[in-house]
Amino acid sequence: MDLGIKGKKVLVTAASKGLGKACAKAYANESTQVYIASRNKQQLEQAKKEIIKETGNHQVSSIVCDLTKAEDIKEMITRIGTIDILINNAGGPPAGKFDDFADEDWQHAFELLLMNIIRTVRAVTPGMKEQQFGRIVNITSSSMKQALDGLLLSNTFRPAIVGLSKSLSQELASDNILINSVGPGTMETDRIRDIFKQQASTESIEERLLKAGEQVPIGRIGQPDEFAKAILFLGSKANTYITGQTLIVDGGAMKTL
Ligand code: NAD
Repeated sequence: MDLGIKGKKVLVTAASKGLGKACAKAYANESTQVYIASRNKQQLEQAKKEIIKETGNHQVSSIVCDLTKAEDIKEMITRIGTIDILINNAGGPPAGKFDDFADEDWQHAFELLLMNIIRTVRAVTPGMKEQQFGRIVNITSSSMKQALDGLLLSNTFRPAIVGLSKSLSQELASDNILINSVGPGTMETDRIRDIFKQQASTESIEERLLKAGEQVPIGRIGQPDEFAKAILFLGSKANTYITGQTLIVDGGAMKTL
């Protein structure tokens, strides 16, 4: 399938590792101009090198940006100029129950998960409107549809992203700007390994990853590049009629309709 995105400018936020990096690689493989952003310069440079080496695409740039900071987001978008495709990703919030969190924790999760998207969308849509083309895809979590045990902050803010995106889809469709949200089930990234490390167990991480996979109808947990394929299609020119939707990439784990 021709995705129609050769030469397009793509920004993937929180892309020094995990799902964000996998998405950046998928776009680099399609001969786009890829911008990756995250907080840590060293990790970003390493990711950039890896993407260039694996894809042979040298049009990969890195920008240091803390997604909880309005000024950083503004500066990043100004530096890039008009963006064709925006992939909104962010670090995951800490696990915990209601009594574990103070006002600062709520505020931080709000800035990281929700305000981040509001700010990037606000910054990119004027250019997208002018050129009458834009694709925005938000990386969220399956918690946008079904609450996850012990992940109160995620359960609160991910559904808000869905509401925001539905409203935006209505406002932006006439300018050929389509926006969707994709939630991973369990994908093998550092975040998942870190969560497993924090849980007391006599089994090794590898054993527990295998066990987690047995709970999934497909029989294994997912790989970041499998997730990236869904993002790539929704955030491409080949997607001409899907907007305001939510998609879960979880190997069939969630039973919600
Ligand atoms: P990861 O920890 O492997 O990568 C997170 C990325 O976010 C890194 O590049 C990190 O530098 C960046 N980041 C964190 N805070 C940032 C900030 N303030 N500003 C800029 N960059 C920042 O995580 P992942 O597994 O790739 O997950 C990506 C997203 O998907 C997270 O929001 C996570 O909660 C969500 N998610 C992942 C899974 C999974 O199975 N991996 C499942 C459900 C939801």
